[in-house]
Amino acid sequence: MKPANSVLSSYGTTIFEVMSGLAREHGAVNLGQGAPEGLEPADVLEVAARAAQEGPHQYPSMWGTPDLRHAIADHDNDCYGLGVDAETEVMVTSGATEALADCLFGLIEPGDEVVMIEPLYDSYLPIVQRAGGVPRLVRVEPPQYDLPREALAAAFSDKTKLLILNSPMNPCAKVFDREELGFIAGLLEQYDAYAVCDEVYEHLVYDGRQHVPLMSLPGMRERCARIGSFGKILSITSWKVGFIVAAPALMAPIAKTHQFINFTTPTCLQTAVAYGLRKGKPYFDQLVGDLQRRRDHLAAGLTGAGFLPMTVGGTYFQTVDFSRLGWDGTDADFCLHLTKDVGVAAVPVSAFYRQAEDGAPPPQHYIRFCFAKSDAALDEAVRRLTTHFG
Ligand code: PMP
Repeated sequence: MKPANSVLSSYGTTIFEVMSGLAREHGAVNLGQGAPEGLEPADVLEVAARAAQEGPHQYPSMWGTPDLRHAIADHDNDCYGLGVDAETEVMVTSGATEALADCLFGLIEPGDEVVMIEPLYDSYLPIVQRAGGVPRLVRVEPPQYDLPREALAAAFSDKTKLLILNSPMNPCAKVFDREELGFIAGLLEQYDAYAVCDEVYEHLVYDGRQHVPLMSLPGMRERCARIGSFGKILSITSWKVGFIVAAPALMAPIAKTHQFINFTTPTCLQTAVAYGLRKGKPYFDQLVGDLQRRRDHLAAGLTGAGFLPMTVGGTYFQTVDFSRLGWDGTDADFCLHLTKDVGVAAVPVSAFYRQAEDGAPPPQHYIRFCFAKSDAALDEAVRRLTTHFG
């Protein structure tokens, strides 16, 4: 048989699928995958159930239902003052993953350079490469995850088509501040490049921090495609409803990709997430309060078990340094050990870095736990870890 596409064939199964499979097999508490528990808003589920019964049941517009597009534009205008037009600047997608693929396939020409900041969410690199883009990777690294400005500037060139920016950032929970964003904006202007802004954790920021969309900075309105996910906003990851906000000229090629890849997203889910998004600030505040409490609860338990928790500014991920526990293998082997022998699944942070053939190895003694879990799951995980290591 003739070989399939070599870029995609060269990738294994994603780490999330692997660790969740192992967690099931070994009866481990799964703090690996970023799937929230007990946070699904009951009223949003009811609206979806009703809409699934009542319809309409046929293809909606490829741009999304007018109701949802208006809810997204109102949200972006209220939260960030972006002045978004619902008719021309909003497109609904089947999750942020589809939105990312739409942006990357729509904008990259073979040979274009794409600047990305490691750690990387796992779909970025394969899609950039499949689109013919040439990755230019820069790292932020634990424990501080500071932006390496010189390296970032050096990664830009006249061939740079775009930068992918994930803020708040998975897995390191970094929230880019206005100053860092200003530096990035300067590079985008200097090199006449775009930014694909993965902002799926926009509402999960803690301790009074503010999420600032790159798009809201001077000169960035036309250069940025802003991506969101209702999986994260409403804690319903299986629904796979996301969106893109971009100025019409930038949206045009992105919409072309969407029309050939996916075209539409189920109407009943769009109806329900539009309702959910309109719950607004009181809902977001409650979600943040609840998650912040879970974050602190898990961090205290992990500290007691001997781990060193890193600062969590946003997302629902707690990365920890496990070097005090005396393990001298890799983080991936440590996660296998945790899942099989301790009964707690986590994800190795090195999986979010490319295994550079020539360059420095990725960080090796950090793992990621998801704290958006039920109190019972968090307590049981901490009990198992403390019994084993404490
Ligand atoms: N980007 C990041 C950084 C994510 O963490 C995730 C989900 N884990 C996604 C995109 C994908 O979101 P969705 O489920 O809406 O496709």
